[in-house]
Amino acid sequence: MNIKHIFVVGAGTMGNGIAQVAATSGYQVTCMDVMPEALEKAKAMIDKSTGKLVEKGALTKEQKSRADAIQFVSSMDTIKDADLVIEAATENPELKFKIFKEIDAAARPDVMLASNTSSISITKIAAHTHRADKVIGMHFMNPVPLMKLVEVIKGLATSEETLQTTLELCRVMGKEAVEANDSPGFISNRILCPMINEAIFALQENVGTPEAIDRVMKLGMNHPMGPLALADLIGLDVVLFIMEVLQRDLGEDKYRPAPLLRKMVDAGYLGKKAGRGFYRY
Ligand code: NAD
Repeated sequence: MNIKHIFVVGAGTMGNGIAQVAATSGYQVTCMDVMPEALEKAKAMIDKSTGKLVEKGALTKEQKSRADAIQFVSSMDTIKDADLVIEAATENPELKFKIFKEIDAAARPDVMLASNTSSISITKIAAHTHRADKVIGMHFMNPVPLMKLVEVIKGLATSEETLQTTLELCRVMGKEAVEANDSPGFISNRILCPMINEAIFALQENVGTPEAIDRVMKLGMNHPMGPLALADLIGLDVVLFIMEVLQRDLGEDKYRPAPLLRKMVDAGYLGKKAGRGFYRY
């Protein structure tokens, strides 16, 4: 594997975490976003996160200085210098297809392209490029610097070489890779989001308060956080989007989004990022 320079597209919650972990793992990193505020915020988040990790002894000062050297850019002009591209832009199929067309036209033809999508088909994303064999899903978890798992998803045309390089890359980044096939929601969100949706149905039907529902799952099932608090962390719009993908693409009504989830998204109660979801922040 001869990857030295990683180009991350999207500097939001996931993009800045991926950029940070790639840099502290020894890669040269460029992080790109179309929104100048997102780049500013990403820079501040990475500085704060790496500062805390140095204090805790989880990162060395040298690793922090590598993260400080991340380049933040607002265009794909330098993508031709990259040896790998990881896309972590907004979860919207049409936008991702457009971004992959752009990346495919600008990046060197030998370069692998990974997507951090939570639910969009890797096979479909790959079909918007001329290098479907080099396209793969690298589904990092939130918050990226702390979570061990990367779900690795092969599309129909993804080559064995691309898969093996990705597994090695996860190892170098200190992550545990688990392979999943390209199916709606992959493994993680096929199981997690219906559980969260069921917790929302239980709340809607007054089976318990949000606090009671979350405490039962924490104290009784040993989950580190309750499903409603987790929904607030992920973003209720993201949970709704994934449930819609599961219902549409698997064709089963058991994935019907809870009406309360839809109502909260309509009201703008999107969770932590909006200051209000099932809880107030
Ligand atoms: P986010 O909204 O925090 O960040 C998305 C960023 O993409 C924004 O800063 C936006 O400006 C940028 N963007 C939009 N169009 C762009 C373009 N054309 N070029 C470059 N940047 C562009 O979203 P997020 O939560 O970081 O999610 C990013 C991806 O990661 C999504 O595919 C999502 O499904 C996935 N994901 C999210 C989580 C989570 O818990 N939030 C977990 C795993 C995976």
